[in-house]
Amino acid sequence: MEKKQFQAESKRLLEMMVNSIYSQKEIFLRELISNASDAIDKMYYRSLTDDSLSFEKDRYAIYVEADKDNRKLVMKDTGIGMTKEELEANLGTIAKSGSLAFKKETEIEDGHDIIGQFGVGFYAAFMVADKVTVITRSIDSDQAYKWESDGTDGYTIEPAEKEDVGTVITLHIKENTDDESYDEYLEEYRIKAIIKKYSDFIRYPIKMNVTVS
Ligand code: ADP
Ligand code: MG
Repeated sequence: MEKKQFQAESKRLLEMMVNSIYSQKEIFLRELISNASDAIDKMYYRSLTDDSLSFEKDRYAIYVEADKDNRKLVMKDTGIGMTKEELEANLGTIAKSGSLAFKKETEIEDGHDIIGQFGVGFYAAFMVADKVTVITRSIDSDQAYKWESDGTDGYTIEPAEKEDVGTVITLHIKENTDDESYDEYLEEYRIKAIIKKYSDFIRYPIKMNVTVS
């Protein structure tokens, strides 16, 4: 198992996410669903140039599963997945436009309301989760990998088991504090409402499962 530190810039954004006082924490779901959708798009584009791949539309979907008892919110997609190198490059650093735009805007004094308009990216998960586990297998790899982080103390990457190509992201939802409850992110009606609000335009089916004890 390898333990690595986030890049300096990523660290700053992570700190903002972990200690977020931002009221619209719910946008984490928009970010993760848009990433899942992008990953399925990439499969589609790959199938256009690779004759050995056919894009059977029915196989492509985004699954959201809430497990209240264990305080887990799981997002699964049948997208293109990530290799070990991609995991490292994509989730260990901020390289992407969305995150950078966000960072610039927050340097503006009243950047508070502006946050929601930009893609803040994957790290938004740390507004509601104190641990995030990503298990992914790339279309270009027979080996799956697990990435895990508490958002502060770096991240680990290790080989993992996964039969099919795609990505499973598990958010370990934060415990409630005196000031803040996170229970709503495990409630089906609430999750559905957030998805409707931000992800209505997503072209792939979003399927929901709930586990109650
Ligand atoms: P952006 O979506 O703007 O690129 P993010 O922080 O949301 O920034 O995501 C960073 C990168 O991580 C993505 O560009 C993508 O390469 C990778 N990634 C994130 N989620 C997934 C996923 N579910 N499947 C495959 N790759 C993903
Ligand atoms: Mg994104």
